[in-house]
Amino acid sequence: MKKETNHGSHVIIFDDIPFDLDEKKLLQELRMEASHPLFPELLSVANQVAKIIKPKAIYRVCYIEDRDEGSVTFGGQKFESKILSQNVKEVERVFAYIATCGIEVDQIFENDGDMLKQFWIDSIKEMALEQALDFLFAEIKGKYGLNQLPSMSPGSGTREVWPIEQQKLLFSLFGDAEKSIDVALTESFLMVPNKTISGICFAQGIEYITCQLCPRENCPGRRAPYNPYLREQFPTEASSLEESKPK
Ligand code: SF4
Repeated sequence: MKKETNHGSHVIIFDDIPFDLDEKKLLQELRMEASHPLFPELLSVANQVAKIIKPKAIYRVCYIEDRDEGSVTFGGQKFESKILSQNVKEVERVFAYIATCGIEVDQIFENDGDMLKQFWIDSIKEMALEQALDFLFAEIKGKYGLNQLPSMSPGSGTREVWPIEQQKLLFSLFGDAEKSIDVALTESFLMVPNKTISGICFAQGIEYITCQLCPRENCPGRRAPYNPYLREQFPTEASSLEESKPK
């Protein structure tokens, strides 16, 4: 389950994270009752996916080398984001990470045009990604004795929070180690497989969720209400956020 490899720096790889098919949660996500006539078919697909899905994660400990109001340098790379700089202003160490549902399902289940089945499969992949993240954060918290571990991801929320282009810098922190969890970054900075997330987490004692700074309406992934009063904490970005709603 756990490998420690040296790619010129200390990189920890989890390539066999257990997956638990939580039927109750899946039904909640799909807003379906167990009495629904399609439930047996859903269960059949879910069990097939559960047999092959392999969530994975990777992380690297980085120490902050330089910082100013609009940027933070770690791992030899300069990351530009005022909110990132604000969020890590009291810490010397961050954890760069990538977590994924794994590529196995996409390799075996071809998209046959059945949209409903694809939606079900994507929901199970999302569940696997959440479990990979939970596993990863629990490992980091346990190893470093941390209670809170707020996180930020390039491209999450509005452009002003942390531009998606900085995915490239984030991936460069891993050398080519991300290949060991079968994750790739496209030229348009999207990650493959689709249910993959990258970012940094840090042990600063704050409650931070990017959704609080994101005014996007009706977002199904929202994890916290939009909070315009955070402008006091993030003055420059908040005024920009008001004007630049994400697509
Ligand atoms: S509200 Fe939606 S788009 Fe905005 S940061 Fe949260 S999940 Fe992302």
